[in-house]
Amino acid sequence: MQHLIRECFQKEGYVFATRAAEIARAHGHDRPARLASNENPEGPSPEAVRRAIAALGTVNRYPDEKNREFTDALRAYHGDYRFAASVGMDGIIETVIRTLINDGDEVVVSTPTYSFYGIAVRAQGGVPASVARKADWSVDMDTFIRACEGKKLAFLCSPNNPTGTVTPAADVAAILEAIDGILFLDAAYIDFCDEDYRPLMHRYDNLIIGRTMSKAFSLAGLRIGYAFVPAWYEPYYMTAATPFTLNSVSQAAGAGALADPAHIDPIIRNVVIWRTRFVDECPYPVAPSGGNFVLVDVAPATAETVVEQLAARGVIVRSCTSFPDLGEHYIRVSIGEEWENERFLQEISRL
Ligand code: PMP
Repeated sequence: MQHLIRECFQKEGYVFATRAAEIARAHGHDRPARLASNENPEGPSPEAVRRAIAALGTVNRYPDEKNREFTDALRAYHGDYRFAASVGMDGIIETVIRTLINDGDEVVVSTPTYSFYGIAVRAQGGVPASVARKADWSVDMDTFIRACEGKKLAFLCSPNNPTGTVTPAADVAAILEAIDGILFLDAAYIDFCDEDYRPLMHRYDNLIIGRTMSKAFSLAGLRIGYAFVPAWYEPYYMTAATPFTLNSVSQAAGAGALADPAHIDPIIRNVVIWRTRFVDECPYPVAPSGGNFVLVDVAPATAETVVEQLAARGVIVRSCTSFPDLGEHYIRVSIGEEWENERFLQEISRL
């Protein structure tokens, strides 16, 4: 029956970092350092947990289809913008592609980057068109802008997963000035750096900024993503979206987390301290990062070998071979708890 499945799903989909965890387990590490998924090792705000528990009592009802509790909290936190919400930013990415892309449409993707853009574009019948970053991982502006000619949609991630590179807001503005289509700016890790793209929403009607509650706000398990969207686009997004995407517990928890912004301050301070230490103390070259992770060049070794060796020593990191347009010799390491970060530095120095 497999022939019935669409071609885009015949190949491998999103790659999870499960193999390293299996190796660590096989070597007897019950509690390995988990540095593969850019998760936040700290728990969420108690206010998020309190509201999530309260919301559990109402789950016999469908959630509010307009996500009002969450979007009101977003307005209180960010100011007066238009928001769309979904099941993680992944859900936002899928819905945005659904609103724009017909069979065969090319979608520009600045690479190497998060692999799900390409997967979601193909699932919709579109064709990802990669534009490689420069050797220092900054965006090749001229080539990117040229590639956007005649395209409806382009993806740019900043801070970029997995390189950590932050694209200056002025460069994003220059792209928005030059292109006719929509730029999806994935700002999943924006809380960990000083750049602020929000003011661009007031100047451009072709910008969508994707955000997530999975990272700085520690709610990855509840799958809460949202986006700043232009006013003209909002009704189309709502038409294309799966009904009731964001469940009532997630809506309540997301609103609770946003009501306690001070909770993330020490989390961000800790990330900044540790990514600097990773740059300074790791024996391999580490790219400067604006995220809660760093990209490490382990050449001449391969990423797969280093990931396996570290896993055997109880440290789980991510091989970047599944990221489009990245070589075989990069690993991505998330900032975890103090002991996890120490353990990584210790073990990578011993390889
Ligand atoms: N964008 C980037 C760059 C990511 O790294 C991730 C998560 N790994 C996402 C989007 C998806 O985030 P969410 O958990 O909100 O689906």
